[in-house]
Amino acid sequence: MTVAATATTLLALSLDPIPARDLGVFAVLVACCIGYGEASRRTERARRQYSGTPHIDLNSVWMFAAVLLLHPALTTALIIIFYGHRWLRVAHRVVHRMVFNIAASICSAGAAVGFLAAVGHYHAFADLPRDIPTFGLVAAAAAVFLITNTALVCTAVALSSPNPTLRTVTADWSDYALEAATLALGALLAWALADWPVMALPVIAVTLVLHGKVLMRQLREAARTDAKTGLLNTDAWYDAAHRELTRAGRHGPPAGLLMIDLDHFKRINDTYGHLAGDDALRAVAHTITEQVRGYDLVGRFGGEEFVVLLPATDPPHLVSIAERIRDRIAALVLPVRANHGTVLLRDITASIGIAVHPNHGDQLEQLFTAADTALLDAKKAGRNQVAYATEPSTSDPAAATAPRKHFDGTNSP
Ligand code: GH3
Ligand code: MG
Ligand code: MG
Repeated sequence: MTVAATATTLLALSLDPIPARDLGVFAVLVACCIGYGEASRRTERARRQYSGTPHIDLNSVWMFAAVLLLHPALTTALIIIFYGHRWLRVAHRVVHRMVFNIAASICSAGAAVGFLAAVGHYHAFADLPRDIPTFGLVAAAAAVFLITNTALVCTAVALSSPNPTLRTVTADWSDYALEAATLALGALLAWALADWPVMALPVIAVTLVLHGKVLMRQLREAARTDAKTGLLNTDAWYDAAHRELTRAGRHGPPAGLLMIDLDHFKRINDTYGHLAGDDALRAVAHTITEQVRGYDLVGRFGGEEFVVLLPATDPPHLVSIAERIRDRIAALVLPVRANHGTVLLRDITASIGIAVHPNHGDQLEQLFTAADTALLDAKKAGRNQVAYATEPSTSDPAAATAPRKHFDGTNSP
């Protein structure tokens, strides 16, 4: 509401008359927006099925060109037309989200226009000389647009997440590079429309080609991601883990494999319903990710089973990380959508099996077998436990069948 109110105020501040010369450019940009919206319709529909971090698309090309060329009221109209078209033709999203997106775009455009006005160049791009100071001015306006938009989107994501962290709230750096490239295209489009309109055609063509590349990247990302939890899916995790172990080699530092299985998960589904179960899976995935480093590989292995590969981590450290994960999962209190309204879900627990490369084997399969056996032991020992797989000993074959060590929360090594 704050963002929407700010956007409305910005609009009210720009009530000077709209010059007639803006109308032709406005018509071209509206056509671009709708053309782009139609061209990206299928991608957008597909993208909406996947969970993930904030997403950046290419619509700022048109919006930033509008910031430079149009009266702010027309820029606002363009933004509303773009999102309105998307709402009608792509998907009826939750209304408050669409309102937020419109308002955030209007505020970002308003901040960039405000910056240009503050340095004495309100609505003046078409008449400015094409020299280095003007270039600097346009680059600074683009930076204001990008920073404002990023700040608003990250704040909204942080406010709507239960446990926001910098990693979950911000997009990938490559997304910001893409957004910067998009703004650069917007500046080129504005320049073309002001001085040499036919050059707008290659700029639009480049935008559509770039969109295809972005689509490829999104599809690649989607093919690697587990849609429900946002973690790596089994195949992607396996490929990445295999690469990591090959890279470390037999004589590299030890790497750990954790197999995590939720305890009596079927009961949660049976008691609260499968939607509540899904909420719990997402929360557990988030908890595991929070407890490990950015380069550790976290994947969803199956229904309620997760796997983590931790490169360069020695066994005592692995045990303490596994204990921490177990502990944090046990401490979760989750409001979930149950069959009869929202309930607080407690007592989710997990059992964890640990195997170490190369102690339990060179190959990923051997590590899986060892971690899986340890996991089974943790289940048998009463669940909500961490078990470290027995290390095979060449000098003492009896050790291979010796009881496995258990570590529980009250008696950590
Ligand atoms: P244990 O402590 O022995 O692991 O008991 P458990 O009930 O967790 O084990 P079991 O493997 O028998 O059941 C796993 C359950 O996980 C069965 C299924 O209902 C549930 N499950 C698997 N995938 C999903 C999913 O994507 N969403 C939901 N809500 N439940 C799932
Ligand atoms: Mg299971
Ligand atoms: Mg289970």
